[in-house]
Amino acid sequence: DHIANQIAAGEVVERPSSVVKELVENAIDAGSTRIDVTVEDGGLALIRIADNGSGIGADDLERAFQRHATSKISSGKDLFHIRTLGFRGEALPSIAAVSKVECVSASDDSGLGRRIELAGGQLLAHEDAAASRGTDIRIKELFYNTPARLKYMKTIQTELGHISDFIYRLALSHPQIAFLLKHNGNTLVQTLGNGDLLSVIAAIYGTGVAKKMLPIKGESLDYRISGYICRPEETRAGRHAISTVINGRYIRNYAVAQALVKAYHTLLPINRFPIAVLHIEMEPSLLDVNVHPSKMEVRFSKEPELLEFVEETAARILRGTAH
Ligand code: ADP
Ligand code: MG
Repeated sequence: DHIANQIAAGEVVERPSSVVKELVENAIDAGSTRIDVTVEDGGLALIRIADNGSGIGADDLERAFQRHATSKISSGKDLFHIRTLGFRGEALPSIAAVSKVECVSASDDSGLGRRIELAGGQLLAHEDAAASRGTDIRIKELFYNTPARLKYMKTIQTELGHISDFIYRLALSHPQIAFLLKHNGNTLVQTLGNGDLLSVIAAIYGTGVAKKMLPIKGESLDYRISGYICRPEETRAGRHAISTVINGRYIRNYAVAQALVKAYHTLLPINRFPIAVLHIEMEPSLLDVNVHPSKMEVRFSKEPELLEFVEETAARILRGTAH
């Protein structure tokens, strides 16, 4: 069983950012409005996620760290949960198998919660603890017992880059959640959680960039788009600075980014790229999320229509700035 845990862990826990991803997604699933992420040495020394979500009930805490102990069939309605269903109940046990875990959680406001401690998946402590509602989980010494995996880790800066990219994407897709990311004592990003996307853009790209963004808005029969795109004269960022959020979920889609770039290139026939954050809403039936669950890739059943809609909406906004 110990070996099975470690093998499964290799699939879920590739590197520190995969741990951050699983834990922060759990915090979001728990309805948190505030998520603090503290990282040391690129996540290899410490990953700490503190949230103010629903918490884990006293009776469920130990089970949450046991393989296949939890299930989430009830949320299958949401297409995007297919990703989560893939690793259903596997993240916490997998992470615990390859690290030292300490988790304090409370599911009410009584001030009393439970604390659990594990190392390499082995239970070390399980006791009452003072706690406010929410979950505070610490992952220490990731891969301490799997030296082969540890050897594959890149530099602290590379691992931190993956973590911060991930937090930026989540902040951009969830402006109503306050995110804080700290590395070795330095605050890398802090968002307010007041629902204002422009303030998230300011937190990530700087207030200078945020000031030069244009609001984008548009609606067709099938699609609704909102967000911000940069002024045509401010294009210069890499292609990766185009963020696409579909129905509240950050996705990777080259075609949508390309449609936006085309709108700029009709005005500005040079090879530069915009900073943009596009929130697009559509019927879930127009989406196919089975392409590659872990990479947040989707297919659209009416892709040509969607791309035309994105390009036309952006072109209309950009032309509006020309006069
Ligand atoms: P999954 O998310 O696929 O159900 P996990 O191993 O990630 O599996 O988590 C197991 C369970 O523990 C979750 O289903 C959830 O009930 C609970 N849980 C984990 N993290 C949190 C959290 N931050 N807040 C509340 N509940 C949590
Ligand atoms: Mg999970």
